[in-house]
Amino acid sequence: MTNLTNHTIASALAGLKKKEFTAVELVDAHIKASEAARHLNCYITETFDTAREQAKAADERYAKGVALPLDGIPIAMKDLFCTEGVQTTAASRILEGFKPPYESTVSGNLKKDGTITLGKANLDEFAMGSSNTTSGYGNVINPWKRKGDNKDLVPGGSSGGSAAAVSARIAMGATGTDTGGSIRQPAAFCGITGIKPTYGRCSRFGIVAFASSLDQAGPFARNTEDCALLLKSMAGWDPKDSTSVNRPVPDYTAQLKAGVKGLKVGVPKEYRIDGTNPEILEMWDKGVQMLKDAGAEIVSVSLPHTAYALQTYYVIAPAECSSNLARYDGVRFGKRVEGDNLIDTYEKTRAAGFGKEVRRRILIGTYVLSAGYYDAYYNKARKVRKLIWQDFVNAYQKCDVLLTPTAPTPAFAIGENTQDPVTMYLNDIFTIPASMAGMPGMSIPVGLSADGLPLGLQLLGKPFDEETMFRVSQTLEDAAQFTAVPSNFVKAA
Ligand code: GLN
Repeated sequence: MTNLTNHTIASALAGLKKKEFTAVELVDAHIKASEAARHLNCYITETFDTAREQAKAADERYAKGVALPLDGIPIAMKDLFCTEGVQTTAASRILEGFKPPYESTVSGNLKKDGTITLGKANLDEFAMGSSNTTSGYGNVINPWKRKGDNKDLVPGGSSGGSAAAVSARIAMGATGTDTGGSIRQPAAFCGITGIKPTYGRCSRFGIVAFASSLDQAGPFARNTEDCALLLKSMAGWDPKDSTSVNRPVPDYTAQLKAGVKGLKVGVPKEYRIDGTNPEILEMWDKGVQMLKDAGAEIVSVSLPHTAYALQTYYVIAPAECSSNLARYDGVRFGKRVEGDNLIDTYEKTRAAGFGKEVRRRILIGTYVLSAGYYDAYYNKARKVRKLIWQDFVNAYQKCDVLLTPTAPTPAFAIGENTQDPVTMYLNDIFTIPASMAGMPGMSIPVGLSADGLPLGLQLLGKPFDEETMFRVSQTLEDAAQFTAVPSNFVKAA
């Protein structure tokens, strides 16, 4: 039965249709695998009982020939998506026990298509972080380990529980959100595929907000096709989110095998940044060669404002977060610590409920939005953001997609990079520019480092042209033949 966890979503759907196995068997296999991998701490809340019930219902639909597009596929749901009646914490103690009375649009779309949620996946608190070490519910452990080294590594962040679950084969796919890299970087660290679509492609309704002008939902899976299947279900216009865009959602799998002949792949020279691990730079060159061999034309492009993206992000994202997180005051949601008066209750509740990184972000955000500094920091950052966007618009006149590394290093050990926050912030140096510009991006595993860790490359696309990005990703996947699996995640009984 355990080999059922090796299926891709596409092959599992085919197997279910042919009645080679049942949804109950498929879901049970993943629940067993999840139980065996509890030490990875992927889930904050497990929903195995409901999952078993839903699997039975899926089997009935298969028997009647009325199966839904993703019927019976077990997934992990980042605990940032509100799920009706199921605890939703955003990995913060301030939301402990909060059971939303409604469902987020994205999780609702997936449910409507028949997916089965095994649990609410762990993350960095309020999605702030790059290592899943800021969670109020413990660290997530990467299922990969360095060769000959038993140290626990981070899965990346903020969607670390989602990425680790898919990598460890305890879920077939997962949802994530990406504000500055939180889908792409953990995908790279865990050796799987993850896509952040164009801003506005998926509804943000019911997703706990971090930085509203940047937050975007997207899927994780173990290959391009499965990501395409999940995104098709997640995406679409939603009248409940005024920033979601009313455009038809294409069948993202239709063009997967179209190849890259005739496409232009841009290589931005500003992404050759000092301090990037040389193995990653080498992998980038190999990726360029793979696409060239497959018939793409390679062009050199320039994104001159890249160097300012990180600084700009760390003004805009904290500014928006300080405003969004003002609602957690002990009155409306979750935790409440009684004080001597109302202000004292607010202060005590927030001090007890928010972790250190979240408090740091709120302080930075409040500072850059304060009357005396608004123009110097926040407005300036908004102007630079426009220039970053313009860089991409200019580059896309010369090419169809861009190819870059996803992260400057492979997964690091828990506790590394935590001495000062700036080292941690540098993780997102390659992912943040596209977030600032609202452009779609994805990470694909293409090889292993000398010490056996997965390395990912990032593809960036034109707005709402996820289809071309998927095409190139499939070509890269076929050429790279990344078949390595993490072998250290199941603890000996
Ligand atoms: N690591 C970045 C941050 O800490 C991005 C997080 C995200 O995309 N949610 O803000």
